[in-house]
Amino acid sequence: MVIGLTGNIGSGKTTVCQFLADKGCLCLNADVLGRQVSEPGGEAYAELRQDFDAEYFDEAGNLLRPKLAELVFNNAAELARLNAIIHPAVLRCLQREILAAQAEEPQRVIVVEAALLVEANYLPILDQLWLVWADDQVRLHRVMERDKVDSKQAQARMNNQLPQTEKAKYARYIVHNNKGRAELQQELEAVWQQFWQEMEQED
Ligand code: ATP
Repeated sequence: MVIGLTGNIGSGKTTVCQFLADKGCLCLNADVLGRQVSEPGGEAYAELRQDFDAEYFDEAGNLLRPKLAELVFNNAAELARLNAIIHPAVLRCLQREILAAQAEEPQRVIVVEAALLVEANYLPILDQLWLVWADDQVRLHRVMERDKVDSKQAQARMNNQLPQTEKAKYARYIVHNNKGRAELQQELEAVWQQFWQEMEQED
């Protein structure tokens, strides 16, 4: 069973992943893989070097992420060019890691966490999708506090994602995370129980 865990920025994905890891799930993070594939020697590195100017790499050949982020932030064409390199490489890595984990421990639940699972079309490698949902104002305040940015900067980070209502169309479960940590824990215990009940019914 491969669960995709998604949610827009500040919704609480990392917090939910920690809960699922505590339950024994193997958690794979697509953002971490995205960084790995773009390091020298990584799966997407050669293509990045080919497609982006030398100014986006330091002397040792490492990708200058903040500089590249600046380039793609307000430039849809450049962002699409970057995504066309990174996403397929991450997808291949995920597929390999999933197969290896399943061979080692077939019963273990695997969780793939990423904000862009729907946007980047990772759905075909997932058995089901969970969406962590928090209202825009709640996410805005969480991002401001966590990243020490003002509301304008936080809003800018929130703008590039598909609305939660769109993602909800693909979700088997929605984890509501508008309240405090204790409420989230309760919500997760309930969703986790429902998930296992439905797994057993399907068997
Ligand atoms: P991103 O997409 O930016 O990685 P995320 O979806 O992984 O975000 P988290 O980092 O888990 O979100 O949560 C955002 C911030 O809100 C964190 O500082 C986290 O500790 C806090 N947070 C998450 N859920 C709650 C909650 N129920 N109560 C209080 N704080 C929370």
